Amino acid sequence: MNILVLNCGSSSVKFQLIGTDLERIAQNTDERLARGTIERIGGEAIVTLQSNGREPQRSTAPLRDARAAIELILRWACSETSGIDGIKSVADVHAVGHRVVHGGERFTYSVVITDEVLRGIEDCIDLAPLHNPANIGGITAAREVFGPGVAQAAVFDTAFHQTLPDHAYLYALPYQLYRRHRVRRYGFHGTSHRYVAYRYRQLTGMAREKTNIITLHLGNGCSAAAIRAGDSIDTSMGLTPLEGLVMGTRSGDIDPAIIDFIAAKEGLSSREVETLLNKQSGLIGISGLTNDMRELLAEAHENDDRRARLAIEIFCYRVRKYIGSYLAAMGGADAVIFAGGIGENSAEVRASICPGLEWMGLELDAERNAAQIDGHEGLITRDGSRLAAYVIPTDEELLIARDTVRCVRGVPQRF
Ligand code: ADP
Repeated sequence: MNILVLNCGSSSVKFQLIGTDLERIAQNTDERLARGTIERIGGEAIVTLQSNGREPQRSTAPLRDARAAIELILRWACSETSGIDGIKSVADVHAVGHRVVHGGERFTYSVVITDEVLRGIEDCIDLAPLHNPANIGGITAAREVFGPGVAQAAVFDTAFHQTLPDHAYLYALPYQLYRRHRVRRYGFHGTSHRYVAYRYRQLTGMAREKTNIITLHLGNGCSAAAIRAGDSIDTSMGLTPLEGLVMGTRSGDIDPAIIDFIAAKEGLSSREVETLLNKQSGLIGISGLTNDMRELLAEAHENDDRRARLAIEIFCYRVRKYIGSYLAAMGGADAVIFAGGIGENSAEVRASICPGLEWMGLELDAERNAAQIDGHEGLITRDGSRLAAYVIPTDEELLIARDTVRCVRGVPQRF
């Protein structure tokens, strides 16, 4: 089957076309056919399209909405210029898989999208007011473009973390707030944490029930997950993606009293403070320079910028603290896994996170650590290290494509 994987944001659409089916999943021979991004939808959009093995094609086009973007992707995919084997018309796209940010407590697995499921995703808008409406827009647009004959599936960022026990997902707030409004930890990046855990099992031959690892998704958004016996038992993001690690523009954990304090001192509304915590904090807030870790590292090296160094230090310190707390929560683990743009590419950040973990048995191997960049996958600790560390490039799109196949074929899922 050819699966179109869509990640629809408020003004962007990211996609991949993946050839897969139940047999190819079992043999791990899924095929990446094409990928691309369309940004600044609503005006003159920036379009990047790339079919497998070819150079990316960049262009601009006036695109009104997500529907226009999906139509453009489809026209390109079916055209001679894309050069994609096996896709000549709309009929060659057999199903669509959507990344959906918030599935609340209702969606614990990926599902075929029906009108009822769509209503369920709408019911979660309160919990993800920026993301879920964009995801719903993408689903509606794809329905219009492909018609009712092409099945669509929803794969939720929150679903993998629905195995958290109540002592991990409940905040110490009046219990009725959970009962009335479902205020609790949901966690995000679930598809990434799940993929990385799956790859770890493949690399090590470990059975799911014996998989005890800490996964770190360190990208623009960052989160950690404690995975015990194959299940997520704790994760750093909470009701929203603001909690936990230091991120590109998000503060992560803070004292909640700071919100009112800043509001009073700076004359801001609580909504404005929330925006400040989401958009002007984290790496960019501390450094005053950028949310981009690569640029921060360059500033620290080339100009010895003090605040750039401080931002990197606070980032790494917070990750180390989470690793320590999850080791305690899990009663020990076998491995720590680095993923996401920073986790996959920066040997320097990984080397700054790990010191202090030696007493837990993590012995970083400098040569291996330096070698695992640019999409390379593998061990970065010494042989015999009691706590191993790996770099595993994440691949959420692959899991979305595979889940879509399983949903369409009615195969029971097991995360
Ligand atoms: P997103 O969360 O948006 O998917 P990514 O996973 O691509 O983002 O991560 C983006 C982050 O990864 C940025 O901070 C970027 O600077 C960082 N990054 C990418 N490559 C490197 C590198 N070689 N060294 C350090 N940081 C890097």
